Amino acid sequence: MKKEIAIVGTGLVGSLLSVYLSKRGYSVKIFERRSDMRKTGSDAGRSINLALSDRGLLALEKVGLAERIKEIAIPMHGRFMHNTDGSTAFQPYGKEGQYINSISRSELNKRLMNAAEEHGVQIFFNEKCSTIDWKENEIEFENTATGAVRIVKADIIFGADGAFSATRLQHQLKHERFDYQQYYIDCGYKELNIPAGPDGSFQMKKNVLHIWPRKDYMLIALPNPGGNFTCTLFFPFDGGHSFGQLDTGEKVIAFFEKTFPDAIPLIPDLTRQFFHNPVSSLVTVKCYPWTRSDRFALIGDAAHAIVPFFGQGMNCGFEDCRVLDELAEQHNEDWETILLEYQAARKPDADAIADLAINNFTEMRDRTSDPKFLLQKRIEARVHEKYPDKWIPAYSQVTFNPQIRYSEALKNSLRQEAIMQEIMLRPDIEKTWESEDVEQTIIAKLAD
Ligand SMILES: Cc1cc2nc3c(=O)[nH]c(=O)nc-3n(C[C@H](O)[C@H](O)[C@H](O)COP(=O)(O)OP(=O)(O)OC[C@H]3O[C@@H](n4cnc5c(N)ncnc54)[C@H](O)[C@@H]3O)c2cc1C
Repeated sequence: MKKEIAIVGTGLVGSLLSVYLSKRGYSVKIFERRSDMRKTGSDAGRSINLALSDRGLLALEKVGLAERIKEIAIPMHGRFMHNTDGSTAFQPYGKEGQYINSISRSELNKRLMNAAEEHGVQIFFNEKCSTIDWKENEIEFENTATGAVRIVKADIIFGADGAFSATRLQHQLKHERFDYQQYYIDCGYKELNIPAGPDGSFQMKKNVLHIWPRKDYMLIALPNPGGNFTCTLFFPFDGGHSFGQLDTGEKVIAFFEKTFPDAIPLIPDLTRQFFHNPVSSLVTVKCYPWTRSDRFALIGDAAHAIVPFFGQGMNCGFEDCRVLDELAEQHNEDWETILLEYQAARKPDADAIADLAINNFTEMRDRTSDPKFLLQKRIEARVHEKYPDKWIPAYSQVTFNPQIRYSEALKNSLRQEAIMQEIMLRPDIEKTWESEDVEQTIIAKLAD
C-alpha cells in the first residue's frame, strides 16, 4: 500500500509538493492555518509579488504547470536604475532572451492549489498545526474558525509551513543536537503601490525591475498585470534615515522628494500608504537536520528561510520539490534513503543561496550606484559574452542556470569576485577595460 502523506501548509511550496507526490500515486492531504484565499480573497502572506526564475520554472515544468503559470507572469529583462539626479540606466539581467518573471503571490498560490486539487489532493483550511507526536506520527490541529481539535496520523509528514514553522519547532523540541541559527538583518521592508495610469496603462517601463539604489537603503518596483507596480522599500529600522525616523507625513514627503524624486508623483496617496502598510522584518534561518528517518521532512522556507535579495526563496523551495521527486524516482519506496539524500543534497545548496542572498543585499544596496562597480559588471558581461561557458556572472548562474547548484554558484562567485577585485585595482582600468589584455588576464586567472 502506498504511504499516506500529510503536508502542513499550502503556501507556494506545500502546494507544489502535493502535486509532485500525488502524481507519484500517493494519497496527499494538506492542512493550512489560513482560510481558503480562493473564497475569502484574503492575501497569501509575505510580499505581494515575486520574481519567478528558471529554477522555479523548471520545477513547475516537470509537473506540467509552467505554461499555466507563465500566463500570469510579466517578463522582466533587466534592472532599470533610477538615480537621484533623475537619470536612468538599464542593466540587462543576462544574455539576450534571458529574463525573470514578476508574478502575483496570491494568483500563483491559487493556481497551485487548483492544480493540487485537480490531482486529487485534499486541502483542509483553518487547520493550525499545534503539536506533533513523533512516536505515533500524529499531528494535532486546532481549527482557527471553530476551535475544534483534530488528530491526523500520516506515514510521512512534510513541514511546508514557512519561515516561522510550527513543525520545525516541534521537530527541534524533540530532537537532540538540533542546530538552529536565525538572524535578522537591520533592514525591514514596507510595500507601497504605484497605481495604474489611465486605462490600466503602466506609469513606468513595464518589462523591467525598477530599482532606486541609495547605499543604505533602496526602493524596488515590480510590475503587476493590472498596470500597477508593487514597490518595496528596504530601509533600516533605526538610525539616521530609517522607519523609526520617518514618523510624520511631512518627513515622509520630504524624504521621498529628496531621495526618490521620480517616484513621488506616481504615488498619490504616499503618506496614507506609508502609515497604513506594515513594516516587516527579514530573516535568515538555517537548521539541521531537516528530516526524521522515513517519516518527516522540512521543505521550503520551513527548512531554509532566506532574505529576498536574489529573488530565490520560492525558487529554492520549488527546486527542493524537484530534487525530492528525482530521489523518489531513483529509490522507489525507500523513504529513509530518499529523505536522507534529499537532506544531503539540499542542505549545502540552501546554505549557499542564503549566503548569496545576504551578499546580494549588500551589493544591491551599497554598490549598484557605484561607477566602479558598474564598470566591473560591464567587464564581467563582456567576458561572459565572449566566453559564455567559462565566465558566467553569479547572478546568471543562480537565476538562469538551474543545472549549476547553488553551492557551486557560491564557490564560483567567490572566485570570480577575487579575480575582479584584482582587475579593478589596475590604475588604468577605466581606459583599458575593453582591452584584450584585461580579457586575457581574467581568463588566465580563471584557468589558474
Ligand atoms: C519581501 C519578500 C520578497 C520575496 N521575493 C521573492 C522573490 O522575488 N522570488 C522568490 O523566489 N522568493 C521570494 N521571496 C521568498 C518567498 O516568499 C518564500 O521563499 C516562499 O514564500 C516560501 O514558500 P513556502 O511555501 O515555503 O512558505 P510560505 O509561503 O510562508 O507558506 C507557508 C504556509 O504555511 C502556512 N502555515 C504556517 N504555519 C502553519 C501552521 N502552524 N499550521 C498550518 N499551516 C501553517 C501558512 O499560512 C502558509 O500558507 C520573498 C520573500 C519576501 C519576504
